[in-house]
Amino acid sequence: RAKLAGRNCIRVFSRELSEEIQRRVLLEARLKQALERRELVLHYQPKREISTGRLTGWEALLRWQSPELGSVSPDEFIPLAERSGLILPIGEWVLREACRQMRAWQDAGLAAGTMAVNLSARQFRQMDLAEEVSAVLRDTGLAPADLELEITESSLMDNLATAATVLTDLERLGIRIAVDDFGTGYSSLSYLKTFPLHCLKIDRSFIRDIPGDDNDTAIVRTIIALAGTLGLTVVAEGVETEAQLAYLRANRCDQAQGYLFSRPLPPEACLALLRAGPRRAAA
Ligand code: C2E
Ligand code: MG
Ligand code: MG
Ligand code: MG
Repeated sequence: RAKLAGRNCIRVFSRELSEEIQRRVLLEARLKQALERRELVLHYQPKREISTGRLTGWEALLRWQSPELGSVSPDEFIPLAERSGLILPIGEWVLREACRQMRAWQDAGLAAGTMAVNLSARQFRQMDLAEEVSAVLRDTGLAPADLELEITESSLMDNLATAATVLTDLERLGIRIAVDDFGTGYSSLSYLKTFPLHCLKIDRSFIRDIPGDDNDTAIVRTIIALAGTLGLTVVAEGVETEAQLAYLRANRCDQAQGYLFSRPLPPEACLALLRAGPRRAAA
């Protein structure tokens, strides 16, 4: 009996495993063609200053609409692109497209703030990253000060050898660097003062249960204080409720991003939001 159950177990397990592998292989093959076939697009999510409600900038977020697979989440295809190396051409396209879009808004006379682009660990490991970024800025005509690069805390910590060089080169160009998903990595806090950083983005998992959860409020207040001490801008991600926003305002968090203000939007919707002009401070 036990033997039989065991065998069934293995059969179920291996079927699930092979389905998972098959999906990965299929996704990877389709992702290879996705760029040329123009199936990748960028959506943009606004960030706002908490004290005034003013729009401070945008974060570019990649979307893949496959005719065959439907819409695939970046949480599924980015790690895959990272493993296969496809993230390099895809990441360069994202950077170029986000900078082009930002410059187009500026050319239309709109005050669009800064544009933030997510960098994967693999991109961050390229020693010539700053040269690539510099070429994109030159080609698109976007000023370095209008570009921010988001690097997750864990990819920073996994690449300590290249981090110092690459970050210094980017800093020299005049680009802002944000640490994304802050608080989820195994951080040695000493890197915060040695690396040229400008912004900490508090991971959404710490925002979700504030103001009710005592551990999370303590963590959030600590990160805000840390950023203040180090002279870094602090942004809360994943802000969904007025209660969360009120807590962040009371504790002097600089900026917020989340569904409360807006989901990531396609470019046309961003344009409408920009044309509507400066918003008054939230009450
Ligand atoms: P991230 O950079 O931390 O981006 C924030 C994610 O949280 C986005 O998910 C965004 O849509 C979502 N989000 C924003 N506000 C809220 C909210 O109020 N509530 C909830 N529940 N979620 C919110 P998305 O677009 O699915 O992206 C997931 C992750 O995929 C990103 O996390 C980023 O790590 C990665 N990613 C997305 N686009 C790119 C890209 O162009 N390049 C690279 N390397 N990674 C990317
Ligand atoms: Mg990000
Ligand atoms: Mg994040
Ligand atoms: Mg994230």
